[in-house]
Amino acid sequence: MVERRVRCYIGLGSNLGDSRANIEAALRHLAGAPEISMIAVAPFYRTAPVGYTDQAYFINTVAEINTSLSPRQLLQRLQAIENMLGRVRTVRWGPRTVDLDLLLYGSAVIDEPDLQVPHPRMHRRAFVMVPLADLHPDLVVAGEKASALARRLAREQEITRYAGA
Ligand code: ADP
Ligand code: MG
Repeated sequence: MVERRVRCYIGLGSNLGDSRANIEAALRHLAGAPEISMIAVAPFYRTAPVGYTDQAYFINTVAEINTSLSPRQLLQRLQAIENMLGRVRTVRWGPRTVDLDLLLYGSAVIDEPDLQVPHPRMHRRAFVMVPLADLHPDLVVAGEKASALARRLAREQEITRYAGA
C-alpha cells in the first residue's frame, strides 16, 4: 500500500528557559518521528507576547512537514513533545517551555472542541504569519496571501529576526 502523506505546518513558540534550545529540541523530536518528514524550517523570530503581556519575549518559527499521521494523532504527538520538554500549564496564553500548534493540515477544515484547523487565530498573529510567509508567500490563509498578511501584521505587532543570543 502506498503511504499517503499530508503537507502540514506547525507553529512553534517558547519563552521560558533557553527558548532557542527548546525550539531546536522540539524540531528534533518532530523530525525524529518515523511518520513525519521535515520539509523546511523558517527563520527564528523574536516576538513580543500577546494576550497575557506580562511575560518574556518569545522565539517563534514555523515548520513545514509531511506526515502520515491523522490530524488527531499529529496533535497528540505535538502535545507529547510539549510535555516531554516540560511545559507546565499555568496561565492561559502564559509562559511556556514550548508551544506547538497545528496550523494547517493539508486543506482540511476541522472544527471540534479540542481541535480546530486551520488554527483559528493564525491569521491574526505576526509570529505565525511572518515565518509562514517566509516558507510559502503565496499560500492563501483566511482568504489572503500569507505575504500580504505577514506584511500588515508585522507593522502592528513587534517582531524581529532572531539574531542569536
Ligand atoms: P494556544 O496555543 O492557543 O496559546 P494552548 O496551547 O494552551 O493555547 O491551547 C491548547 C489547547 O488548544 C489544546 O487543548 C488543544 O486541544 C487545543 N487546540 C485546538 N486546536 C488546536 C490546534 N490547531 N493546534 C494545537 N492545539 C489546538
Ligand atoms: Mg498551543
